Amino acid sequence: MQKDVSKLTIAEAKAELALLANRIAELDVAYYRDDDPIVTDAEYDSLKLRNEQIENAFPELIREDSPSLRVGTAVADEFNKITHTVPMLSLGDIFTEEDVYAFVDKIRRFLGLSEDEDIEMVAEPKIDGLSFSAVYEQGKFMTGATRGDGSIGEDISANLKTIRQLPLSLNAGLDLFDDIPALIDIRGEVYMAKQDFFDLNKVQAENHKKIFANPRNAAAGSLRQLDANITAERKLSLFAYACGQVKDMKWKTHYEYLEQLKKWGFPVNPEIRVCQNVKDMVSFFREMSEKRASLPYDIDGVVYKVNSFELQRRLGFIARSPRWAIAHKFPAEQAVTRLKKIRIQVGRTGALTPVADLEPVNVGGVIVRHATLHNADEIARKDIRENDMVIIQRAGDVIPQVVEVVLDKRKSDVEPYLFPAVCPVCGSRAVREDSDAVIYCTGGLYCSAQQIEAIKHFVSKDAMDIEGLGQKNIELFFKLGWIKNVVDLLDIRQNHELDLIALDGWGLKSAHNLFSAIEKVCQDTSFNRFLYAIGIREIGEATARILADRYHSWDYFRKEMETDNAIEQLTHIEGIGTVMAQHIVDFFKEEHNQYLLTQLEKRIHISDYQKQQENKTVLTGKSIVFTGTLETMTRQEAKAKAQSVGAKVVSSVSAKTDYVVVGINAGTKLSMAEKWGVRQINEKEFKQMLDE
Ligand code: NAD
Repeated sequence: MQKDVSKLTIAEAKAELALLANRIAELDVAYYRDDDPIVTDAEYDSLKLRNEQIENAFPELIREDSPSLRVGTAVADEFNKITHTVPMLSLGDIFTEEDVYAFVDKIRRFLGLSEDEDIEMVAEPKIDGLSFSAVYEQGKFMTGATRGDGSIGEDISANLKTIRQLPLSLNAGLDLFDDIPALIDIRGEVYMAKQDFFDLNKVQAENHKKIFANPRNAAAGSLRQLDANITAERKLSLFAYACGQVKDMKWKTHYEYLEQLKKWGFPVNPEIRVCQNVKDMVSFFREMSEKRASLPYDIDGVVYKVNSFELQRRLGFIARSPRWAIAHKFPAEQAVTRLKKIRIQVGRTGALTPVADLEPVNVGGVIVRHATLHNADEIARKDIRENDMVIIQRAGDVIPQVVEVVLDKRKSDVEPYLFPAVCPVCGSRAVREDSDAVIYCTGGLYCSAQQIEAIKHFVSKDAMDIEGLGQKNIELFFKLGWIKNVVDLLDIRQNHELDLIALDGWGLKSAHNLFSAIEKVCQDTSFNRFLYAIGIREIGEATARILADRYHSWDYFRKEMETDNAIEQLTHIEGIGTVMAQHIVDFFKEEHNQYLLTQLEKRIHISDYQKQQENKTVLTGKSIVFTGTLETMTRQEAKAKAQSVGAKVVSSVSAKTDYVVVGINAGTKLSMAEKWGVRQINEKEFKQMLDE
């Protein structure tokens, strides 16, 4: 059970934030980079909410890698990278009509407007696709990119060009040269229309290829292809709705800009409307909720944007989203079906995860066959039994969930579900560890399910990234008795070269491709990647990086983990809690692991960790105090701007203060600045420094 946030100690809060950062980072990679989510959106959103609640209660513990400060995830290695001159951000979420009123109130307060002043907004359907950026120079399409982590996106220029709706030239043969800026980054959403999605899945099924779970996934999987010919075969559509970098911007409002986009030949959503006040916004949302099912494309809510560009500029941004726009999301879609069977899956760490096998049901246009049941507690809490009728929910989800049982429809002879006391794969005892909701198989590497999962994890993209070896092959090699652990896999050429070449579906070329992929990772693998690959419980990519940053080299790390004070060392590192530290130390104590690690060290060159350099501005890391009234912005606005470049805004002047920003009618803080010899700057200088 989760502890109430108000009852958490600082150490517990810190440890939980570390775990959340780690888990959310993993989920982000699966969702944004691999287009293959591993949990439901609802589960993801509840982790984000928990993170936010803890951060609100303990603001001093907000981590540098906090999920509340990040957008999406880093781009996939295979793609060329494009840096967004103006970042591509996410949107804040709201769910109720009261939230809409609160959103507008907050904007009014930020801008120092009175309570009855209306703010003109543009309301738009929120298209459930993936965002793109298309840069035009002198009206000609130059490059296209995905959002990536907001700062760096994937180069999808060739793929974007295959979408017929994208104008390759902004004048399109008309005499509109006067209207075309020297440079403009036009942004919007690539999506797959519902019908095109159904057609695609039909063809995929006929050809025994991957079935896409929903149109968003299909659109992302089709656009983010290394081979643009595949993109060209898929029917993708787009809507333009935003602007990144632009030279000589001449529009005063967002709506005027949308009108211009139409003239240049971009599809602009026909439902978009200007709202004069909050009531208009709410009624637009209601209308869209009703219209949603009949629209030819999926939408998951509506977006409200302040219409005036001048106000947008003043409002600026919070860490990962603009302050001048928000997404009002629809509630999830539901359906009722029969739960045929509860099946238990065994994961890499031995975690037993229950999955519901369902009678196939259509939920909002997607056929659902399985749903996650999370863990034994969840089944008990909802009293879910085999053969029950259940309500299934998906909110743009790939893995749907069981919301509740329809008790009225329960047959009298269904038995309460008893979670197995032994592992369904190896028969070892299944136990629950203290304060953990998950039940684990105690078989360890005796359990074949865990052995297989450990190998799958080791070769996966974010771990060693050994290409040419799908999950099915690992299972097959295991069954054939060729590999029992990751070392056997690295030695496959030595022990099974001829067997592999002779294997059905393989042959000389693919076997040799696999051997060279293995050779490549053996030649050089970074410390953090290796640490993640060996699969220590709860050590995700983010934590592996934290550890690599602290210990720098693998040899040193391993030596330290085998000393008596290893736990103490680890718990002193920000982001590593006691539970995690214990898992790490236990891993290194285990004789079987020691043997495998020594064997891996003999085969793999593990290079030292190289930290990436971050962008800095003049004010980054500086301590700033504001005094007096500023002329062109409110205090709140100025504070937000300073924080956005990484400055620390404090309320009183001390010898440690770097700058005092002096406005009109400055108070005692000015004399304190003189006393301590702190550098004073005016509003204009402050603004210049923000840009330097
Ligand atoms: P978001 O989808 O909540 O909203 C931002 C995006 O909306 C923009 O980037 C843009 O692409 C899109 N958009 C569509 N129409 C728009 C319009 N008219 N104007 C402006 N933007 C428009 O934000 P996000 O950060 O991309 O995703 C967060 C959500 O994704 C989460 O709430 C969660 O539901 C889901 N998610 C799920 C998992 C998982 O593991 N299941 C992981 C990561 C994210």
